[in-house]
Amino acid sequence: MAVWTGRLTDARQLEVLALAIRRVLEQRSRAPWSDVRGALQEQDLLSGPAADLLDRLRHLDHDEVAAVRRRLPSGARTLLLAPADDPLRDRLADEDLMLDADLDRVVDQAGWGPLPVTSPDAIVEGVVPLGRAWMQASQVKAELTAAAGAPEAWHLVGGLRRSDPMTPDVAVLAVTDDPQAWIGRAVAALHADTIAVAGSCGLAIAADPEPVVVHAVRQDAVPTSLLWYTGPRAHVQEMRLQSAARGLALNRYSLLGADGPLALTEEADVYRHLDLPVIPVELRGRRGVIESAREGTLPELIEMHDIQGDLHMHTVYSDGRDSVAGMVHAARALGYRYVAITDHSPSAKASRVLTLDRVEQQAEEIAAVRALVPDVTILHGIECDILPDGHLDVPDDVLERLDVVLASLHDGAGHGPERLLERYLTVMRHPLVNVITHPANRSPGRTPGYVLAFARLFEYAARTGTAIEIDGAPGHLDLDAPLAEQAASIGAMLVINSDCHVAERLGRQMQFGVALARRAALTAGQVLNTRDVDGVRRFVAAKRTGRV
Ligand SMILES: [Zn+2]
Ligand SMILES: [Zn+2]
Repeated sequence: MAVWTGRLTDARQLEVLALAIRRVLEQRSRAPWSDVRGALQEQDLLSGPAADLLDRLRHLDHDEVAAVRRRLPSGARTLLLAPADDPLRDRLADEDLMLDADLDRVVDQAGWGPLPVTSPDAIVEGVVPLGRAWMQASQVKAELTAAAGAPEAWHLVGGLRRSDPMTPDVAVLAVTDDPQAWIGRAVAALHADTIAVAGSCGLAIAADPEPVVVHAVRQDAVPTSLLWYTGPRAHVQEMRLQSAARGLALNRYSLLGADGPLALTEEADVYRHLDLPVIPVELRGRRGVIESAREGTLPELIEMHDIQGDLHMHTVYSDGRDSVAGMVHAARALGYRYVAITDHSPSAKASRVLTLDRVEQQAEEIAAVRALVPDVTILHGIECDILPDGHLDVPDDVLERLDVVLASLHDGAGHGPERLLERYLTVMRHPLVNVITHPANRSPGRTPGYVLAFARLFEYAARTGTAIEIDGAPGHLDLDAPLAEQAASIGAMLVINSDCHVAERLGRQMQFGVALARRAALTAGQVLNTRDVDGVRRFVAAKRTGRV
């Protein structure tokens, strides 16, 4: 059995471990222990002071080596990959530093310079799907609240706060009067095996594929810590340069002027001191965003409160968990004015589908719920599969009776880019088709989705009066920013939907969708469901009556 205490306290041990880990990283797959051992032998590391650790490492099988890798925050892995003779490698013994390494932290009091970073423009690869990261962060918050007491506040930071569909990190900020004591209580209460790294004001909880990093800060450090840990790194570095140009020094804990820390109450104050408008978190990874902000050309991004309704959700009539009434009550609690109930059509490969003989029954149920919840307009819709020939799997006389029709290309049928596009163009010619859902049919972390001439799809959508969906379900997050931005610039109407299957996720999935739209720099005017229900009905009617 492997003995790994979970505490990284000896730089030499880590260096040896680094070789094993590097081997795994280089091969980008799980290396068998014999390979790792071979690599260690080549470098004459199978004797000497590391022998004790090696005795233990020798018993690790390849799954366990991968598990060790999982225990290190991404920044620490950057350090592991530094050349073996680099003095910076000694820092691997400092657990606080490992937690901050990915943010190029300068520890002034210790006289250390910046940590090695490749380049501010380097793309940091996302590894955790947003939905999974969100669940992991929620779980860690609950566990730490139980272990160390509820902090004054929690904030999501890193890729989670930016809503990266694939985030490079999973990180949260806990606000507390006494960060060291709070972290100390957490470390004492948690099982040692769950703690990957324990610093004095932060810790990392082992998780797959990235540890969940928790930073604890006092309230007065929140404005700068939020900015610092939200990143991305290039944005923080640029903000530090902007600060330096004004004779200020930005670090994790404060914005320092000549006479000490400036008074800050919120993150926006940091931007104000640099004569900048607040840069929305979703845009902070964009090249040139600070220049745009300075020129005053940042768009007025769509906000959650602009959303008036949700046009894509499932119920027990197909693979949803909740009834029509359950979904409508959840929508009402969110303040929506309307929803569309859009269950899967018969040929969808969903676990359950809406058979045609039940469409009428669903219509009656919707009528009954309308009477119960008069302040939310319920549109009766459907999510129709696009068949291999580009036609729908539901006859027109059924579709005509519905308020809105979504068309989905769930099944690519092995078609290449041209056939896929042709299927989309064919279905958009249909006067009853109002929305193309999750157009790339991608799933973050699982499948990149269709590659096709999206510009032609968007042009045709604009021409035919068909809306293009931004789907906020964690399994889709589609369209993502570059394509959604292209669709809007071509003049297609966008619609942001939750594609929700469980009532209590209705709001969160819409938030993910709105965040994607913000990443695409969309404004409320470019999104159909910021209009009232009459506006939606007019959009549908215009296509049905050929007035597009
Ligand atoms: Zn779908
Ligand atoms: Zn759906």
